[in-house]
Amino acid sequence: MDKNYFENIILCIKEQFTQQNFIPLHAPVFIGNEKAYVMDTLESTFVSSVGAYVDRFEKMMCDITGAKYAVAIVNGTNALHMAALLAGVKPGDEVISQSLTFIATCNAISYIGAQPVFVDIDRSTLGMSPESLADFLTKNAIIGEDGYSYNKLSGKRIKACVPMHTFGFPCRIDEIAVICDKWNITLIEDAAESIGSYYKRKHTGIYGNIGVFSFNGNKTITCGGGGALITNDQLIAKRAKHLTTQAKVAHPWAFIHDEVGYNYRMPNINAALACAQLEQLDNFVKNKRELAAIYKDKFKKIGANFFSEPADAKSNYWLNVLIMDNLRQRNEFLEFANANNVMSRPAWELMHRLPMFKNAVCADLNNSEWLSDRLVNIPSSVRL
Ligand SMILES: *Cc1c(COP(=O)(O)O)cnc(C)c1O
Repeated sequence: MDKNYFENIILCIKEQFTQQNFIPLHAPVFIGNEKAYVMDTLESTFVSSVGAYVDRFEKMMCDITGAKYAVAIVNGTNALHMAALLAGVKPGDEVISQSLTFIATCNAISYIGAQPVFVDIDRSTLGMSPESLADFLTKNAIIGEDGYSYNKLSGKRIKACVPMHTFGFPCRIDEIAVICDKWNITLIEDAAESIGSYYKRKHTGIYGNIGVFSFNGNKTITCGGGGALITNDQLIAKRAKHLTTQAKVAHPWAFIHDEVGYNYRMPNINAALACAQLEQLDNFVKNKRELAAIYKDKFKKIGANFFSEPADAKSNYWLNVLIMDNLRQRNEFLEFANANNVMSRPAWELMHRLPMFKNAVCADLNNSEWLSDRLVNIPSSVRL
């Protein structure tokens, strides 16, 4: 075991988090208007799905991302489900995604009865590779008479593509958008991890037809549980509001619903927390980027392979990444770090290795497997 090497890494991490005995991967911080805004919802009694903070949160999301419309949703997983429904994904369709992602991406596709298809990722971005996507489509897809792409082998329609900005690092989303456009595939950006991350000066989530965010407790900013969907398409935005509020027809007193809807609206009490957290987004990202800069410098000195943001990208550095030499070293490091009160974890098990997706259509997934064997996340919280 590379004990010296591991000890040096742990020392670098501990130097950044001196107040704690146990250093978590990512802890939330509430140092702004959180208490005041939450108390305000209690005093007003508007804690549920109607209230001023929901509107304010949606407006803030538009200002931050540059999107024309934002819709608050109860969590990121349901926001992804809603995005897939709005993209017109139907049972039996295929949806292209990446194998290195959090399970929620694929669960959302599965809720509709559609199947995920996996293309490879880039080693330089950790996100979907435009080359792998284009290559997969050129080899396997054909545009049908209805104008949609079909998988020649399975006969299934390929309706949507869901790349993910892994750990906050933007993928090459502009190139992916061009490919999706060419094949008439709706682009949904899983930007759950990338609030405050930019690619070529535009916020992540805005390149796709729909972008999705999560505000779960472990994300860069949190409102307990929460999500949002952004779009520039007015029809999609209107339909998102309608479907997430049980498809209720607006009326002063009658309860009439015109289709099967969902109870997916974010409660006002969560939106209050979200507003207070979003106010601090710039400071949080600045703080996290400073930590990443320190890590980069220190790890370079001890010969550790720290993952830096790709060209043209400004990452929120949600979770910092070290790349180990091989699977054995990765596992030994995980044992060592966690035994030394420094929380560290591997990437999620690749989706195509899980029982639900083991028969999924896959491109060559060399980079996904290479990274999955080597990648570890290390503590990345905002430091006070
Ligand atoms: C966190 C996350 C989600 C889901 O968000 P929840 O708010 O926890 O439901 C979706 N996709 C990715 C990639 C995530 O990291």
